[in-house]
Amino acid sequence: MGRVLVIGAGKGGTTVIKRLLTFNWVQIVGVVDYDPNAPGLLLARENGLPVFTDTPSQVLKLMDVDLVFDLTGDPRMEKELMNFPNRAFDLAMGEATHLLWNVIQELEKQEGQIKHQLGEQQLLSEIGLMLSRSNTPDQVFEAIVNGVIKMTGMPAGSLSVLNKERQELYLVSAKGFSCEFYRESSYPVRPGGLTEYILSHNEPILIPDISDHPSFNNPIILREGVRSLIAVPLIAEEGPIGILYCNDFKPRVFDPTMLEPLRALATQAVIAIQKQQAFEQIKNLSIHDPLTGLYNRRYLNKVLTTEMKRAYRLQHPLSVILLDIDHFKRINDRFGHVTGDQVLQGLARLFETVIREYDIFTRYGGEEFLVMTSESNEQETFALAERLREVVASAKLSSEKISLTCSFGVSTLWWNKGPLPSMETFVDRADKALYQAKAEGRNRTKIFGIEGDTQASNAQPLPAVPKRRRRRKP
Ligand code: GH3
Ligand code: MG
Ligand code: MG
Repeated sequence: MGRVLVIGAGKGGTTVIKRLLTFNWVQIVGVVDYDPNAPGLLLARENGLPVFTDTPSQVLKLMDVDLVFDLTGDPRMEKELMNFPNRAFDLAMGEATHLLWNVIQELEKQEGQIKHQLGEQQLLSEIGLMLSRSNTPDQVFEAIVNGVIKMTGMPAGSLSVLNKERQELYLVSAKGFSCEFYRESSYPVRPGGLTEYILSHNEPILIPDISDHPSFNNPIILREGVRSLIAVPLIAEEGPIGILYCNDFKPRVFDPTMLEPLRALATQAVIAIQKQQAFEQIKNLSIHDPLTGLYNRRYLNKVLTTEMKRAYRLQHPLSVILLDIDHFKRINDRFGHVTGDQVLQGLARLFETVIREYDIFTRYGGEEFLVMTSESNEQETFALAERLREVVASAKLSSEKISLTCSFGVSTLWWNKGPLPSMETFVDRADKALYQAKAEGRNRTKIFGIEGDTQASNAQPLPAVPKRRRRRKP
């Protein structure tokens, strides 16, 4: 181990001592300075090193030393050390110590950068972990905003997701703003506007002071008092999907080294948002029938229950049409199941052209469909069913150009005619009317009467209704 004496415990000496302390092949045998309060002496004392305020020659006489660092920069000291009688130690002084000091400072700078990068990496992996633990879209969006705030040390942030078809951005998460900010939840991407500029940019945009950018005239941001911001465009492979903003209420000087971790965060955010969107699409699929693309019974059950309650509360009528293809089995038997499937798909597309957008059209079972018509009474719903009946009777479906007919049962819910029935009862009434239509020869529409009997649109009394066969699930 090399025995080292440090002479001069000022700024330079302190830096050298700090560094020498980290080398286990160096033993600092003493630190010398005339000033007992020199910072290097304090540091030496803290680390249990011998300290001296005598002349270096006196100290050198007392101990064996391999190397002396002279950090005083004093030519007299240099002379004294050079001429030390029977000198058995090496001397580092003047330019050599200056060089050493510079090397150490450079090392320290690099160490600082590595520490900083490590901190960023750690933060990024923390954000990644948060994102992977987020189960709902809201949690994902919140984790992204929290992440960018933590990374930049800025007090506010927001995330907006792009709706490509509508060219609109939707605010999905924000932090650090007044409640006014949340009122405006969507804004259009104007051609030539700043938002479009950000979205078409592949890089985070740093705006140290928005008052230097007259084009930045977003009234909400200005009203909130935002002065500086970072806009991070979130770009997926197929194009932009949103913007992540980070904001401060005072001008800021941005360090360009922050761009790199911001890019990494943007990549993480894009992956998380896309994963969430894919998940939502899957969830969406599960409320649709895979063959026809119509809503399925699961979705209907949910919507119908809610709509029934709403219709009762608001005292509005609500109706359902249950329809069933006549002799569909024969079509399957004659043309095969694949053609049968085509017929079901063709019928779905055909009826979609007639049914209003805000009515709910679902595949209820195998070759049965249900239409929920809000705000419609018996006669209006009957008219819609008749229209569907006529349209299908004159259509030619599938590649085989098959002609077919359907039978229809209508049931209407009136808030002023008894207590709210269960959803099953409500649909069962339409089913009974449909059965009546089948029983009377098919290709017709029947309305279920409020009193509990089924009646044709011309108010014919009904025979007893036998139980229908179980429906095949889609
Ligand atoms: P009805 O006029 O009394 O309703 O006679 P139907 O033949 O239409 O009624 P039935 O209930 O006897 O037969 C319904 C048929 O619908 C039987 C079943 O194989 C067929 N089916 C149900 N779901 C599908 C499907 O997804 N694809 C195809 N191709 N056929 C289906
Ligand atoms: Mg049928
Ligand atoms: Mg059937």
